[in-house]
Amino acid sequence: MGTPAKISPATLAKLAKLGVHHRSDLLLHLPLRYEDETQLSPIDTVQPGTTAQVQGIITHCEIAFRPRRTLVCRLRDSSGELTLRFLNFYPSQQKQLAVGGNIRAIGEARMGYYGLEMVHPKCRAAAEDTPLQQSLTPIYPTTAGLAQGVLRKLINNALDVLPLHDTLPESLLRDLHLASFGDSLKLLHRPTPDVAVSQLEERNHAAWRRIKFDELLAQQLSMRVHHRERGKRRAPKLAAKKTLARQLIKALPFALTKAQQKVLGEINLDIAQPHPMQRLLLGDVGSGKTIVAALAALQAIENGYQVAFMAPTEILAEQHYLKLREWLAPLGLEPVWLSGSMKKKDKAAAAERIAQGATQLAIGTHALFQASVTFKKLGLVIVDEQHKFGVQQRLALRNKGKTADTDTPAPSNTQEPHQLMMSATPIPRTLAMSYYADLDVSVIDELPPGRTPIVTKLVSEARREEVCARVRAACGNGEQVYWVCPLIEEAETLELQNALETHQQLTETFPEFNVGLVHGKLDNALKASTMAAFKAGEINLLVATTVIEVGVDVPNASLMVIEHAERMGLAQLHQLRGRVGRGVAQSTCILMFQQPLSELARARLKVIFENGDGFVIAQQDLHLRGPGELLGARQSGVAMLRFADLTTDEALLEQARGAADMLLRDHPDAARAHLQRWMANKHDYLHV
Ligand code: ADP
Ligand code: MG
Repeated sequence: MGTPAKISPATLAKLAKLGVHHRSDLLLHLPLRYEDETQLSPIDTVQPGTTAQVQGIITHCEIAFRPRRTLVCRLRDSSGELTLRFLNFYPSQQKQLAVGGNIRAIGEARMGYYGLEMVHPKCRAAAEDTPLQQSLTPIYPTTAGLAQGVLRKLINNALDVLPLHDTLPESLLRDLHLASFGDSLKLLHRPTPDVAVSQLEERNHAAWRRIKFDELLAQQLSMRVHHRERGKRRAPKLAAKKTLARQLIKALPFALTKAQQKVLGEINLDIAQPHPMQRLLLGDVGSGKTIVAALAALQAIENGYQVAFMAPTEILAEQHYLKLREWLAPLGLEPVWLSGSMKKKDKAAAAERIAQGATQLAIGTHALFQASVTFKKLGLVIVDEQHKFGVQQRLALRNKGKTADTDTPAPSNTQEPHQLMMSATPIPRTLAMSYYADLDVSVIDELPPGRTPIVTKLVSEARREEVCARVRAACGNGEQVYWVCPLIEEAETLELQNALETHQQLTETFPEFNVGLVHGKLDNALKASTMAAFKAGEINLLVATTVIEVGVDVPNASLMVIEHAERMGLAQLHQLRGRVGRGVAQSTCILMFQQPLSELARARLKVIFENGDGFVIAQQDLHLRGPGELLGARQSGVAMLRFADLTTDEALLEQARGAADMLLRDHPDAARAHLQRWMANKHDYLHV
């Protein structure tokens, strides 16, 4: 081992930009690609389209001015000649490439106007017998002002001076056929010429496999540790008494599906434990999550605790309020409604009832979790469409109803509420296993009986007339129709304007029908009364912006038209489409699109056209967009994987999962060392 290289403050600042804060971070700053300077190719063997290193004498060097200022040189070896061209160059380069100089050049060859050429090759003066590199030259991700050479030196130094011991037990390496950590790192930073560059660059070499495995393992371990810590925190034991639940179930016009019963059982058991539940209830749109939430709420209420039920939009929250009021009134329970847009006086009155414990169930938007609202005895928090909420809101919510600081170990008298999070945005398996691994997951995997699958149609905007004829027929038939206006990102005013115009237009097109309008900027009372009128069947055609994306439930609506479907994401389209197909009538969703379609838009429309299952769609979405986008900016508290790729490394993730369990059980020291290596400087992304 040598001594650590000194690093100047200026370089440190640039390294920080790359996410390299500690010397050990240098080890995991891995190459993007490699250049092969281990061999020389005779010029006449160089194939256009390949990268090669050549050596020769400069026979010609001049600045050409057409079509633009260019330094043009000829390089000759014993086999042939090629041109070196530089569009941007320094006087020093010109000097280096003076006629007669002995030069080694590496770059991608191509066929130019004057034959074989390299544009912007890397050149250096070198005699014929100057030794070749012993390993492939790594090219690192870098930032302005930080030269490859500097980075390379620092990394090489780190490789020489830092310990590269393995954190994992021999037996695990053997069982999973994993390369050693140190060998893997050395190979990736300094690959010998016999290693296939393609395997390195496509990241499927055994060395990459080890690094990715380590990363996934670290993620799994920290999730597990977090999960265990939750087991040490306290929450009220909400025993399953089921008196109220039985009453409600008896009054329902339907029987619970098997899947609903199964997830309810999981929740019943979980909240009866003295530790906080953090459970994600996944179920495709229309699978009936609301009733499951209501039944869980009853269990808390029966134990004398309050429940907070939060939804991301006023429309959805209000709909839940109306539904739950209807369900719970016969049980003598009266929920309270709380939203940001209420009159101050009403809000204060609602908050007062919550604080006094005069109500057992508060339903509303995120207003429920403002500082001014305190619960008397909060036992369960239900969050619908949880993916719509940001990290901060989820944190605020967890802390609500808590009586002591979370950062200190909880004294036994400190309790926090149980959490039930619901989502209709199905999370692909790999994401569920990684980013959501600290949550327990319940899945409703069947739809209530009697639903007819939705027919999806793709129609070009040019055929708008036909679409209108279809709408007319449906409304004439007593069915109800949604007309969804295009999403206009970053321009809400435009979106609003568009919705108003569409409403105007459709009102003129369909004078015989009642055409309603809902959009995000609509006054809440009006929004509510419009939705109520639609639900009551008084409105035939409802023009809406994507505010209806989540949760709205009007079973008589059987036709949906989505304008500019090509602008919307897959999850959003699936959610929107799920607003129809809730009754017994055959439902149709018409996706109107405008030509020309981008590659991605075409791919998305194909997926939504061909698939009805939300999980399949989510999986496809993961392939099209990658996990970063799928998790979304809202989840930005989540540290992303740098090396592993959930779209291709599912098998490895599976192995890491098993290994995490095994390590925590049999090799806790190794688990600790591994977390230390991989997570020491990462902020804890597990606190949400
Ligand atoms: P989501 O899971 O999308 O939130 P909802 O809870 O809104 O779905 O339920 C969709 C519709 O299905 C509602 O009208 C609801 O009353 C109804 N529903 C729920 N469970 C059943 C069931 N077991 N059988 C029949 N209908 C049901
Ligand atoms: Mg819902």
